[in-house]
Amino acid sequence: MQAAPYILIVGAGFAGSVVARELADAGRHVHVIDKRPHIAGNAYDELDTHGILVHRYGPHIFHTSGERIFEYLSRFTEWRPYEHRVRGIVGGKSYPFPINRDTLNQLYGLDLDEAGAAAFFEQVREPRDPVLSSEDVVLNSVGRDLYEKFFLNYTRKQWGLDPSRLKAGVAARIPVRTNTDDRYFTDTFQAMPLHGYTKMFESMLDHPNISVELGVDFADVRVNIKASHIVYTGPIDAYFNHCHGHLPYRSLRFEHEHLPNVEQYQETGTINYPNDHAYTRITEFKHLTGQKHKGTSIVREYPQAEGDPYYPVPRAENEALFKRYEDLSMKESNVTFVGRLAQYRYYNMDQVVGAALAAAKRLTG
Ligand code: FAD
Ligand code: UDP
Repeated sequence: MQAAPYILIVGAGFAGSVVARELADAGRHVHVIDKRPHIAGNAYDELDTHGILVHRYGPHIFHTSGERIFEYLSRFTEWRPYEHRVRGIVGGKSYPFPINRDTLNQLYGLDLDEAGAAAFFEQVREPRDPVLSSEDVVLNSVGRDLYEKFFLNYTRKQWGLDPSRLKAGVAARIPVRTNTDDRYFTDTFQAMPLHGYTKMFESMLDHPNISVELGVDFADVRVNIKASHIVYTGPIDAYFNHCHGHLPYRSLRFEHEHLPNVEQYQETGTINYPNDHAYTRITEFKHLTGQKHKGTSIVREYPQAEGDPYYPVPRAENEALFKRYEDLSMKESNVTFVGRLAQYRYYNMDQVVGAALAAAKRLTG
């Protein structure tokens, strides 16, 4: 524990660790706690019992168009260039996903060029105005057949909700392409930390002004805290003892499996199963990390309502409830709320780094 005055950081994920490092570099003393037995939050990776680097909380692929963010993290890691590719299984066959021209040509037995693909989408789309829900987004761009084949059931599985009941931003994460680009992301920087995320976090938190204590729940220690300021990165409703009711967060169960003597299990890093199985997708880690091994390790993601909070659920009514918690947070002048759970935003890792850098800047004046 740091000598007073110190700043307490709750959560050692991207939000907490970036703020910790920035404050430490500015000469502040910070103490980081996390209720889990490890740092790195949901980006935590580790060697499984077979020696393969796996992401315990599901596949994490780093991508950003923010040069400043990429440069910032480059202080703590080298990188391995990696462009993620995903295929979706429909009717037992695998197709490029996000939907591109090859998807159309293979699915419908066509031979469209770029202009032909654009004309195809124009013909099948169901124009929606305004575009409010995730259903609107998809129908408006690719029409009903592609919606039903690739989006409807995946979304029902992932969120336990029909796309019509989710805000547009959820499905709008997925582009639609008339070219044959089959990368999942098109950001300028796409890479994986060369030695893994956990190593990158170790380097970030390795500072004489930072102490880290794991396996400590803020709820158990909050009454005794003597910190001059708290940076809280956990679920915002838990901070306020759920006084306005529970904010919905979607959870997942991860089923990890090792396949001995299988050099490669699947053709791309991730395969999505929109219409089959209780899981949404399978990821094979060796694609992401480039690791060589005679066996391979995969993870299946089973969405569920209960369990660790992983995703805020983007719906107007949930955001209204979040707003009530945010109003309370404004009155806590000695607490900064930052991160995916505390800000209730469907942030990618780079966006959390951006939010954490901004929060640290406010704190250091
Ligand atoms: P977290 O990583 O959740 O960290 C919060 C920490 O706070 C946790 O370690 C938690 O244990 C701790 N905590 C909470 N409450 C308490 C308490 N009461 N006391 C003490 N500690 C507490 N982003 C991408 O950019 N690319 C991807 O490919 C990608 N894939 C993803 C896949 C999955 C399955 C999931 C769930 C997310 C994915 N993300 C991805 C998003 C990414 O995980 C988040 O943006 C990022 O990890 C959020 O960082 P954070 O610090 O806000 O939260
Ligand atoms: N989605 C879908 N079919 C897919 C992949 C994604 O319907 O094959 C929808 C689904 O609603 C999902 C959202 O698009 O939650 C965002 O997908 P993304 O892969 O970005 O989700 P994440 O990696 O954050 O879980």
